[in-house]
Amino acid sequence: MSTLEIKDLHVHVETKEGIKPILKGATLTVHSGETHAIMGPNGSGKSTLAYTLAGHPKYVVDSGEALLDGKDILKMTPDERAKVGLFLAMQYPVEIPGVSMTNFLRTAKTEIDGEAPGIRQWAKDLSAAMKRLKMDPKFASRSVNEGFSGGEKKRNEVLQMLLLDPLYAILDETDSGLDIDALRIVSEGVNSMRSPFRSFLVITHYKRLLDYIKPDVVHVLADGRIVRTGGGELVDELESRGYEFLKEAEGAEKA
Ligand code: ADP
Ligand code: MG
Repeated sequence: MSTLEIKDLHVHVETKEGIKPILKGATLTVHSGETHAIMGPNGSGKSTLAYTLAGHPKYVVDSGEALLDGKDILKMTPDERAKVGLFLAMQYPVEIPGVSMTNFLRTAKTEIDGEAPGIRQWAKDLSAAMKRLKMDPKFASRSVNEGFSGGEKKRNEVLQMLLLDPLYAILDETDSGLDIDALRIVSEGVNSMRSPFRSFLVITHYKRLLDYIKPDVVHVLADGRIVRTGGGELVDELESRGYEFLKEAEGAEKA
């Protein structure tokens, strides 16, 4: 099983101007085998949610819980979270000059599995995953993300996901910067990993990604809270009316 439960999460960051609360009671559950999409206006806290789950030190949890199969991950270090099966594809992947892709990926795999993968099997898996994502094999010897285009960085995040084989995957705007062909290739990579044992949280602004990766449930995050939850029809509604319709819905509730 791989259920991800986020309960009433409150998170702030320290800024020069003082404490800035970002998540203000975010709650959602992704059951094993499900793919959930999170949409929401810029600055609503989507990346903050992703970073908080991954354990970025900048994001301070004031209250609430995040459970992976009942285990509280908020008390774990980022590497412990990865070892229990959590993976984050970042919105802005970082460049690591001097560290080759091959070394980086093999070290990550070794850490997560607790043992080094066999050399032959690993070479086979790496080349198969790169082929699947239509990445030039030359990328394997380059430094991680250094000089990669926006789209190449995103593809590299998905390459890591394919190889690390996580139980809970969070994709933060993996579609941004991808052209139409790359979007399809990356989506196929994600879809090939969908299984009854895995759960996905896909953060995106655009319907076009969700045309490829069909979510079971769609949430809208606004001002640090999930304000709407529904199915695919919610994506169409947002696409045609924008986030303004949330305000109209709120107004109608208050009236
Ligand atoms: P989203 O991903 O939904 O666009 P973010 O989670 O990145 O939103 O950011 C939510 C809000 O918190 C934004 O107003 C952003 O500027 C602010 N914020 C996020 N991280 C930091 C940080 N490290 N320092 C200061 N402000 C931050
Ligand atoms: Mg973001």
